Amino acid sequence: MEIIETAEAMRAWSFRQKRLGKTIGFVPTMGALHEGHISLMRAAVQGNDLGVASIFVNPTQFAPNEDFSKYPRTFEGDVRMCTEAGIQAIYAPTGDSMYPAGYSTYVTVENVSEGLCSRTRPHFFRGVATVVTKLFNAVLPDRAYFGQKDAQQCAVIKRMARDLDMGIDIIEMPIIREPDGLAMSSRNRYLGPEDRQRALCLSRSLFQAEKMLQAGERSAAVLIQAVREGMDAVNIDYVELVDADSMQPVDRVEQPVVLAVAALVGPARLIDNIKYIL
Ligand code: AMP
Repeated sequence: MEIIETAEAMRAWSFRQKRLGKTIGFVPTMGALHEGHISLMRAAVQGNDLGVASIFVNPTQFAPNEDFSKYPRTFEGDVRMCTEAGIQAIYAPTGDSMYPAGYSTYVTVENVSEGLCSRTRPHFFRGVATVVTKLFNAVLPDRAYFGQKDAQQCAVIKRMARDLDMGIDIIEMPIIREPDGLAMSSRNRYLGPEDRQRALCLSRSLFQAEKMLQAGERSAAVLIQAVREGMDAVNIDYVELVDADSMQPVDRVEQPVVLAVAALVGPARLIDNIKYIL
């Protein structure tokens, strides 16, 4: 296992592997790793000759009032988990090396970045698209793995990779959940016992809506109302039914859709979703 701290060293490592004919699967993360991240790493290792993960808490995707400074940082445990998952190199750049004084370049993905999470986090997808582009330019992967847990982020990255001819396959992986249904998230660490219990209403409401979909319900208004009623114990940010590629709201389920929720549960902002394909 190698830990690599600069873009130059990372690119040199990847060029060496490519000269040997090796393919590279890449998993970008912000660390504080859990089984959700590990599932992506296993897929990267299985689907490629080599697996690379990055650990970088990206300041440009946090607003000044958000949790950048207290975001959990568990680097030693993360390295152990990456090693166990079969990852060969961890790219862990410093903030200064990523955004030196005078840094001025950002990637903006239009349309698919609008709505949902960007309504309360307008800075977020510009930060994500920018950092992922920089990580891709350092790691030079053949395939990159993202979780459906962050469905809009995944749609943004797919759009960006296509639009900018990046030549990287973006692979979306299913949501890994705790045994009681809660979607795994680094931010679940913020939850005390009572909030942890209340947080279950996100997945519970989504699963109930999934049953309604399976039983033939097609109206967005009906599905959204049912989910909202199930989430009365938390502070809802949004409940929306959107097209799975464009992330634009739909009135009826007539194509692959994502039913997505975000809520404040105590100190944590949590998101979750289900995808439904007719
Ligand atoms: P993060 O470190 O939270 O930025 O997440 C890094 C990657 O892991 C993103 O592609 C996430 O969508 C993915 N991820 C986070 N939580 C889960 C989960 N519960 N199941 C699957 N993938 C996840």
